[in-house]
Formats: sequence, C-alpha cells, structure tokens
Amino acid sequence: IGATLAAQMLLSTDSSSSLPRRRSSPELKEDIRNGLEECIGNTPLILLKSLSEATGCEILAKAEFLEPGGSIKDRVALHILRTAEAAGQLAPHSGDKVYEGTVGSTGVSLAVLCRARGYLAHICMPSDQSIEKSSLLEKLGAEVSRVPPAPIVDQNQFVNRARNLAREHSNNPDIPGRGYFADQFENDGNWRAHYDSTGPEIFRQCGGRLDAFVAGAGTGGTISGVARYLKPRLPQLKVVLADPHGSGLYNRVKFGVMFASTEREGTRRRHQVDTIVEGIGINRVTHNFEIGRPLVEDAVRITDEEAMAMARFLVEKEGIFVGSSSAVNLVGAVRTALKLGPGHRVVTILCDSGTRHLSKFWKQAGNVGGAWDMTLDDVLDADSRHKG
Ligand code: PMP
Repeated sequence: IGATLAAQMLLSTDSSSSLPRRRSSPELKEDIRNGLEECIGNTPLILLKSLSEATGCEILAKAEFLEPGGSIKDRVALHILRTAEAAGQLAPHSGDKVYEGTVGSTGVSLAVLCRARGYLAHICMPSDQSIEKSSLLEKLGAEVSRVPPAPIVDQNQFVNRARNLAREHSNNPDIPGRGYFADQFENDGNWRAHYDSTGPEIFRQCGGRLDAFVAGAGTGGTISGVARYLKPRLPQLKVVLADPHGSGLYNRVKFGVMFASTEREGTRRRHQVDTIVEGIGINRVTHNFEIGRPLVEDAVRITDEEAMAMARFLVEKEGIFVGSSSAVNLVGAVRTALKLGPGHRVVTILCDSGTRHLSKFWKQAGNVGGAWDMTLDDVLDADSRHKG
C-alpha cells in the first residue's frame, strides 16, 4: 500500500500550470475545473414537471442561475473579454480597465471575471438602483459610478457615461493602461456568446428535438444568439419573445415599430421600463436584438402580477427560486405551450436566482404559503384577479 501511495503521490509537472500536480489513480479520470472560468456554461436543462403536467407539453428550462457569477451574463462577459484580448484591445495586469453601463447582472459577471483575468472594472449604473447592487460590485473590487437617472438619453445617461469614461481613460497619458468599453447592447460578442455556447448546449441537451424557444430580451443577446444557432438546424422552431409590459419590443416584433406599450411607461424614461421586472424589456432598438429579430416569430406580453404568481408557483411546486426575468420567461413558455397544444417541447431560460431580487420583485411577490394549492390558472389569471 505504501509503495502504491508513494507512486500516486509522485509529483509531476502539468504543462498548463507551474504548480506541481500529484499523479491521479489510473482507473479514475480527473474532473477538475481550471479556475472560475471553466465553471461557466454547461448548465443543466431541467424538466419542470409541474408546468409540463399542467400544459401537456414538456417545459424545459436552462438553469443559468447556477452560473458562478449568478446569471447567464457570465457567458457574455467571458466572451467579450476574450474577444477583446484576442484583438489586442486588452492585456491582463497592464492597468487596462473595463467600463460598462449596466443595471445588473452584466456588472457582476464583468466584476468577477475582470478580477480573475487581471483587469480593473468600472461599472456605471443609475442611482435609483438598489444599494445592494452597488455594494456587491464594490465588494468584488469594481469601481461604481451611480449616475442620476436621465429623463432623456444624453451624455449623462449611464451607458454613455461608461463609454465616455473609457474614452477619457484611453486619451489620458497620465492614467496607466487603456479604457475598454464592453458595450453589451451593441457588441457582437454578446449574441455570439449565446451562438457559441447557449444555443449548441440546448440543441445537444434536447437531442435536437424542440418546438419552441422562448426568452425575454434586455440587450437581445440571448434570444438572437440562440435563435441564430437553432433556426438553421430546426426550421420549424418557433422563437417567441417574452416581454414585460411597458417594453417596446413586443410592438417591434408584432408590428415592426418601436413604441411604448403602456401609458405608465410614457416618455418618463425612454430606455427603462416601468415594471418590477429587472433585466429584460427595453424601449430602444439595440444591435443585439435586431440581429436576431427576423427570426423571432411571435411575442407575448406579460404583466408583473403574472410574473410574481409564476415565481411563487415555481417555488411552491418545484422548490426553484428564480428572479423576475425567469418568471416572465416561464409565463411566456406556458402561453406558447398552450398555443402549440399538447405534445410539444418548449425551452426557456432561468436567467438568475431570486436572491438577486429580494428587495424589489420578491418583496412585492410575497412569501410562498405552506400548502401546495396553486394552479396554473392562478398564474394565468393573476392579472384579472389583481384588477379585481
Ligand atoms: N435576465 C436578467 C436578470 C438580465 O440581467 C438580463 C440581461 N440584461 C436578461 C435576463 C436578458 O438577457 P439579454 O441581455 O441577453 O437579452
């Protein structure tokens, strides 16, 4: 035994790392991820039994809340950083700083990956966002600029602020390194991240069989990238946008024009939507949405009440605690399934966890009761019940 152990513990040097490695047992294959980045992607595809039984369709959801940075945006942040490095726009530990305007998950994904890859991160966000978000970013070592919400899109709007700060950084010879604007709304690296990973994973996990893909859009990267991968392989596939009320994207898909869909939204905030749903729904045309829009066949509009009821339903029946955009996606998936009829397979995304949404969405959604008595009708009628 002593000799075997000694043999196993013989140190060898792995060519990809300067660290000495112990030789593993010949019968067992090692399964070790080389850092955080190798934990991104390859998330499970979950059959949601409760929703599947209630609709007669298979409702499958990609568990992006299990990503190490907490959301689907890990894929995008990694792809954008790698592409910029390959293009010579970023070099690790050179003082280069990544700037981004974001209200949420992209900031967290960039903050963790910038740490891991040797960059500083500077996140610009509207000052009306919850304080938890900016303090989380600061804990992760990112700089945060809280920008007053702008009634119109001008140079002070948070995305433009990030763009300008990156430019000022690069133009200032007194600051080390360069400024790089990640630009998730317009950057092709966003939809390509989903074309390269999310789309192929869904196709493989479904064994090439699915009838509909349903997703909301914030930048549009997810729906465009997945649609562009799947559609040529599955020409019959229906790609459906799940849009929170107040977003202009529903009208863009249905009628080809962008206009505010509720009075509540009005002109108060041109880019943000007056809903408690965070991360999806927008009132401007972005490159990442437009690049896949011709493949989006239909759109479903979803109210806050329906999303909250769905989020409670999912906890009650499945023990899965998701955020607001995931709940919107699920309502969209169910409505699509009911439209297609029994026997179809509908895939959607669980973008992030409910823990990111405790102070806004879940505060309003309330606690889940002790019984298992909710029905799908309670979810789909939530809006009319709310209005009385
Ligand atoms: N859910 C959450 C929580 C998000 O932050 C985002 C991105 N803003 C999305 C969904 C939508 O993803 P996409 O930007 O790819 O449209």
